[in-house]
Amino acid sequence: MSIDNKAAPAPAPNFLRTIIDADLSSGKHANRKDAAGEALPTVITRFPPEPNGYLHIGHAKSICLNFGLARDYAGRAHLRFDDTNPIKEEQEYVDTIIDSVKWLGFSWEQGGHEHLYYASDYFDKLYEMAEYLIRSGHAYVDSQTADEMAANRGSFSEPGRNSRFRDRTPEESLTLFRRMKAGEFEDGAHILRAKIDMASPNMNMRDPAIYRIRHAHHHRTGDKWCIYPMYDYTHPISDALENITHSICTLEFQDHRPFYDWVLEHLAEGGFLQRPLPYQYEFARLNVTYVITSKRKLRQLIDDGVVEGWDDPRMPTIVGMRRRGFTPESLQLFCERTGVTKSDGWIDMSVFEGCLREDLDPKAPRATAVLNPLKLVIDNFPEGETVACSSPVHPHFPERGTRSFPIAKTLWIEAEDFMETPSKGYFRLFPGNKVRLRYGYVVECTGCEKDAQGKVIAVHCNYFADSKSGTEGSANYKVKGNIHWVSAEHALEAEVRLYDRLFTDPQPDSGGKDYKQALNPNAKQVITAYLEPGMKDAQPEDRYQFERHGYFVADRVDSKPGKPVFNRIVTLKDSWEK
Ligand code: ATP
Ligand code: MG
Repeated sequence: MSIDNKAAPAPAPNFLRTIIDADLSSGKHANRKDAAGEALPTVITRFPPEPNGYLHIGHAKSICLNFGLARDYAGRAHLRFDDTNPIKEEQEYVDTIIDSVKWLGFSWEQGGHEHLYYASDYFDKLYEMAEYLIRSGHAYVDSQTADEMAANRGSFSEPGRNSRFRDRTPEESLTLFRRMKAGEFEDGAHILRAKIDMASPNMNMRDPAIYRIRHAHHHRTGDKWCIYPMYDYTHPISDALENITHSICTLEFQDHRPFYDWVLEHLAEGGFLQRPLPYQYEFARLNVTYVITSKRKLRQLIDDGVVEGWDDPRMPTIVGMRRRGFTPESLQLFCERTGVTKSDGWIDMSVFEGCLREDLDPKAPRATAVLNPLKLVIDNFPEGETVACSSPVHPHFPERGTRSFPIAKTLWIEAEDFMETPSKGYFRLFPGNKVRLRYGYVVECTGCEKDAQGKVIAVHCNYFADSKSGTEGSANYKVKGNIHWVSAEHALEAEVRLYDRLFTDPQPDSGGKDYKQALNPNAKQVITAYLEPGMKDAQPEDRYQFERHGYFVADRVDSKPGKPVFNRIVTLKDSWEK
């Protein structure tokens, strides 16, 4: 299997692994063959998105879980589009979902075969099986009006009532079903229903719909069909046709499992499906604090102009997280670390940010960036001269080499690295104090210049020519402050976007709250920063640690050759801690 193992986090125990281990030792799925006579793996999972929107962090959980289990058990995972609803589905979403799963580091290819499926490819089979269910007395065409049907459905406390069409003969239902398929009826005139139990305490077992009439163009099957199978009917059959062993979904599908099993049992009886049949397992969906994942609400944020699109770096969509600079490895680590449980809960955003830092720290080359610039003039430095300074690409990996940047008379430093009147414990620049210009010289502050409003516009200092870092003389200078800088003449001026969490409330939309009241006005700040000159070569999606500031990525959309735009991925430390 060509799933990228390099990125694999260490597997943590969870109840699904316990189940799979038990199935492996009982040999439940051993010795199976596919239709072509090829041996089947003993673990086959699937990720089954509906192509009706962009994937988000919750889907990433499901992807990492399904593909991760397949990887860890040397099985395989399928990507299957559950495209049974022609109204909401589009090719655009199919394409972005494919990209997102690949970007996360997963593949559905095995032994030269692409395990990419579409439920719509099963429409013929699904239809044939529906005819079988009618003939065998397990399904009937119902012709009640929508109102009648709703009224007869009952409620949680009240059983439903049988439709007056429930006792139609199979022949009569079959004729009607074929006429439905032939396009003889309007939308809603009839539906095909499973014949189960209108008094079942489980509403999903009260003769659920199997097929409905929908005169609509489908993004893959075009106008071939005007009846479409329901998700709850299609899903178990698709799983079985693909020989899925463990069909993993979120908890809200628990009440659908009896129908899942009902469909598979009856069709296996009819000889349409092979045993052992797939089995559905449910886990708690991922909820992350400071994040909303409802497609409708995310779309609203775009429509209201709060964010700029699905791939806005503030969005929890996979395309948004990618653009923000989040790594596939950190998402995989997060999904593994947050585990798989049977009860709903919230995972704190800081857990994810921790995974990001853990992943980025060893990988990201270091760079210098001045985000809030203030001029520093070294008065005794010769005009027009430059001296090369160098520093490691990564302090813990000397083998990655060094980077070089010039020091000159006029520099940019961070405004907060100077205080005219220092507060207690302040060791950086103030008149009379010495600091080291990181990787450069020790300087002594002599004063500052102010504008008419009293705002400091430049700081002055003198340097000690024998204090350069890496030279013998440097040891003679003991200073407490160490500040970063870039040469004003040589620095790369760049747009930097400082991103932060989109909401200020950890659960912005829970309990019916209006998430729009909890928007963080500082979730995006655009600044002009000065970067060390080598940063002009940063390529889209290159990630760096800007020393003292955090991790940044060259924006994959807006960066131009020689002119990268940077996004802050995450700060170095958690500033949200309470
Ligand atoms: P919709 O709002 O349209 O129902 P959905 O988020 O359920 O959207 P699907 O395309 O049906 O989207 O989801 C694909 C898979 O992702 C499903 O198996 C679903 O259970 C899983 N999934 C969706 N959200 C989460 C989440 N927050 N945590 C874990 N898995 C999720
Ligand atoms: Mg869904």
